[in-house]
Amino acid sequence: MYRHDLAEMDLAELEQSLETMGHPRFHARQLYQWVHKRAVTDFADMTDLGRDLRGALAEAFRISTPEVVRQETSSDRTAKVLLRLEDGQLIESVFIPDTPANTFCLSTQVGCAMKCGFCLTGKMGIIRNLTAGEIVGQVRVLTRELGMLQSRFNIVLMGMGEPLHNYDAVMKALRMLNDEHGLAVNPRRVTLSTVGVLPALERLATEPLMPNLAVSLHATTEDQRDALVPINRKYGLKDLLDACRRFPVKRRERITFEYVMLKDVNDTDEDARRLVRLLNGIKAKVNLLPLNEAAGIPYERPSDARVNRFAKIVADRGVTVSVRKSRGRDIRAACGQLITESTRLRSPAQQLAALLPIS
Ligand code: SF4
Repeated sequence: MYRHDLAEMDLAELEQSLETMGHPRFHARQLYQWVHKRAVTDFADMTDLGRDLRGALAEAFRISTPEVVRQETSSDRTAKVLLRLEDGQLIESVFIPDTPANTFCLSTQVGCAMKCGFCLTGKMGIIRNLTAGEIVGQVRVLTRELGMLQSRFNIVLMGMGEPLHNYDAVMKALRMLNDEHGLAVNPRRVTLSTVGVLPALERLATEPLMPNLAVSLHATTEDQRDALVPINRKYGLKDLLDACRRFPVKRRERITFEYVMLKDVNDTDEDARRLVRLLNGIKAKVNLLPLNEAAGIPYERPSDARVNRFAKIVADRGVTVSVRKSRGRDIRAACGQLITESTRLRSPAQQLAALLPIS
């Protein structure tokens, strides 16, 4: 018998659904709390609902929840969780402690279509979009598995996938997470990271519920970015930065520009100076990400001295800059390293990457 998936419903949809079934709408709030705030998915355990209602709900609904296949914890307490979705597809979510807040890094797609040259996930290609329920489901599972139902946490949409390539599901997930009857996640605690899907970025600028924005820039010339971030061939660097200039950044907030540092590719003094010039007129901060090397990725990590010199040039010109400490490298949970190693769709490079430890 077909049962609707309650995990995909926002509160308004749930209220409507209950009303259609002939039940009072207010039960939707109780249900929403059980599922999202307490991570309870068995109707029998929802003890403030009458027995008859619980029976009717169990007949009408299912609550799909990603299944934990494997959890690995790094020496720095970063935890990577491999999750199986209802159709058998695999995704990864990461918990990064103390950055300074606790942070969940969520996936928004199975694989990614963007094919950034330094990213293992990009080598998977896109398999499918995640649904809103699957994006929210990662938070439900992480809070439950890590004993964090009562804890504050930040969310970064920086796992597998390009969030703006799956716009509607991502925005619905943010609304569901924000709901006061669920986890009430303030959008200021959410950061959406994009390579710059321009039409979607323009749309994001009009959203009432707006996360912080991080832009994966990674290059300082059109040619360089064409090679590293192929979507640049469609939506170029200049247009992306113009869109960032127009983006409604709130007072005391800034757009974060992520810049993966690749030895002898984009790490020169001239790159640093050009980066500052490009960001002129944007409320910006720069986050430098020395590459997490991996087999199958044809780039090398610059020396610490080179990274520090690059950072100094940027900082000396008045732009706030940080260098990201890689977390979870020993369990391949660091940025650009999320691949579902059990997928049958692995490329030979990924298979090799999965076999080799990170040095
Ligand atoms: S860096 Fe992000 S957008 Fe680029 S391929 Fe990897 S997951 Fe996709």
